[in-house]
Amino acid sequence: MSDIILGIIGSGQLGSLLCQAAKKLNIKTIVFSDDEFGPAQNYSDKFIFGKYNDKNKLEEFISKVDIVTYEFENIPFKILKRIDEERKVLPRPEINQTVQDRKLEKNFINDLGIMTTEWAFIKSAEDIKKNKKLLPGILKTNTLGYDGHGQFVLNSLDDIKKDWCFTADYILEKKVNLSKEISVIISRFGNNEIYTYEPIENIHKNQILKHSKIPADITHEIFKNAQYKAKLIAEKLDFIGTMCVEYFIDQDNTLLVNEIAPRVHNSGHLTINAFNISQFENHVRAVCGIKNEKVRKISNAEMINILGKEIEEYRSKSFSDVEFFFDYKKKVIKDKRKMGHLTILKN
Ligand code: ADP
Ligand code: MG
Repeated sequence: MSDIILGIIGSGQLGSLLCQAAKKLNIKTIVFSDDEFGPAQNYSDKFIFGKYNDKNKLEEFISKVDIVTYEFENIPFKILKRIDEERKVLPRPEINQTVQDRKLEKNFINDLGIMTTEWAFIKSAEDIKKNKKLLPGILKTNTLGYDGHGQFVLNSLDDIKKDWCFTADYILEKKVNLSKEISVIISRFGNNEIYTYEPIENIHKNQILKHSKIPADITHEIFKNAQYKAKLIAEKLDFIGTMCVEYFIDQDNTLLVNEIAPRVHNSGHLTINAFNISQFENHVRAVCGIKNEKVRKISNAEMINILGKEIEEYRSKSFSDVEFFFDYKKKVIKDKRKMGHLTILKN
């Protein structure tokens, strides 16, 4: 029995799956979340509900845990830094600060000599006009984006709405004519101990992940290159835990980094059933300093995200022994909300 109590900030499906992985390793979990109904409370040993800037709740959380990690990147840096004064936060707060800000994130990646989409930092309609060469493009809020929230397609300058007042910062990205999207999940334990999962092929619909599979239908060169770049990024960030690098492949077979997720990732859900050690278990092992087990692939696999009302039909379905249905047990069904997933093992 381990004595470690792992604190997890955020209570969605990623938090739930982290709690389940921790339980397997006999590690107790305390989840801190501003969502009263966050499903991770079904799996954690304790649940603290409160606003992240609620001093009392935050101090209660800090006092009860040994190590802190997080399931999402949009946590104010100040909060992570406050926790880090008392308890180690992994991945380090500075990493999260870089990755939650698209401008800092892209500068970091480009400074490593790694290509992203062409992009520019935008504060006004005037800035978009100056960067007309990036159209057709996608305007994205510089912070707080997820699942396509805060994104606007701009086909031409006419699409700039007169009433936009640019109260937030944005980046404008050239729209890539995608041949494919892939991601690489990587777990780093420090001291050059690293496990890189094979690239996963992803299909998005309306900017939300719908479908993932291994093996990805890519060339050997892209396979190696994607793993190499993910490794370089993880090393340069001095990352501890599991992270994900999302890539675009364009029509010329050029590999571009889309973004980094400094956390376990939806495209890696298939690692639960397709590998002996999942991305979640590797994350818990890395942040808690538990020796990493040799990772083995068990099977090829496909994962389907179940969005919104689709969950109702899955709840009454029966499944074969190569199909693994995960119901996130979210209280409210909302359009486009990730409600569960199904992983199917393949030959
Ligand atoms: P989020 O932070 O919401 O995940 P992303 O930047 O990853 O935002 O965008 C979500 C999805 O939208 C991508 O996976 C891709 O399918 C599509 N997308 C985003 N940016 C571009 C782009 N510049 N060119 C083409 N497709 C894009
Ligand atoms: Mg993304």
